[in-house]
Amino acid sequence: MPRSLHLAFAIALSVLPLSAEAQQSSFTVGTATAERGQKATGFIEVPAGVDAGTQIPVVIVRGAKPGALLALVSGAHGTEYASIIALEDLIATLDPTQMSGTVVLLPLVNIQSFEQKVPHVNPVDNKSMNRFYPGKEDGTQTERASYLITKQVVDRCDYLIDFHGGDLDESLRPYSYWVISGNKKQDAVSKEMALAFGLDHIIISEDRPKDLNATKYLDNTAAMRGKPTITVEAGYAGTVETDDVAALVQGTRSVMRLLKMIPGAPHFIEHPVWINSLAEVTSPESGIFYPLVKRDSYVEAGRKLGDVTDYFGKVIFEARAPVSGIILHIDAVPSMKKGDNIANIGVIAPKAP
Ligand SMILES: [Zn+2]
Repeated sequence: MPRSLHLAFAIALSVLPLSAEAQQSSFTVGTATAERGQKATGFIEVPAGVDAGTQIPVVIVRGAKPGALLALVSGAHGTEYASIIALEDLIATLDPTQMSGTVVLLPLVNIQSFEQKVPHVNPVDNKSMNRFYPGKEDGTQTERASYLITKQVVDRCDYLIDFHGGDLDESLRPYSYWVISGNKKQDAVSKEMALAFGLDHIIISEDRPKDLNATKYLDNTAAMRGKPTITVEAGYAGTVETDDVAALVQGTRSVMRLLKMIPGAPHFIEHPVWINSLAEVTSPESGIFYPLVKRDSYVEAGRKLGDVTDYFGKVIFEARAPVSGIILHIDAVPSMKKGDNIANIGVIAPKAP
């Protein structure tokens, strides 16, 4: 890590004020209250409204000493298992007696998706739980849950990491998003967080909505509210690989070192692959998908990614790469519905930001 970047980070860190709540002795989210040096568990209760109510598990790890308030959120997509298991690991292993500041963990936002093994959406209202932020107090379950997460977690934290991965039908290579807010000081801090997290492919995420009332994504909601934020993705197709879980756990610990929450120096990834745009390939027809490339392959524009056939074996769509880049994820299963994602290709930035 060049000295100039360290300096920029130190300056940016000193400029961003910690929340007033970070200085108080106890901290409460939902039914969980932790005193200094304690760990507490509980639920954010989402009351019934136009549809059923639900509960979102919450864990507070309140460090013995004051410091930053870091929010860790996973399981908005309840079958992106590696990210959920990574937060369960952190719940078990973070030691509040050795920590400064507070970590608030929401390990499983979308409990219905997890229990019913439904990818992408909350089966109660068929909405993605990462598309309806900042939420609505009188909306459907996903919107009410998003509203409470915004109020109880996003608005009160200093930093946020959102955890995802390849869903049941996605074969994904790990990567992170550096979420650009437009505030240079804040963005210098979130860039350091992405480098400290250590995943070696980083998407420069600049194109998300700037309207505070329609921020859609959790990371963008936090970023537009002044919180340095990254999103991290590892794991794929229902698997819980040791390497993926370890990357997410170690990355989180490295960011905590960067934020001076646990002892030790962060480990920064050197010369990551920066990605500055994404091309999404979708299927215009329903049928059977036969892939021809794997996740993490580099493809030239025009390269065939796979075929979609009808149920009699006739090819009805040849999926080709619209751009040159890296296969960040590709469909992992034969089931293909019209409009479904076939692959996401990351275009490599011409130079490092
Ligand atoms: Zn996800």
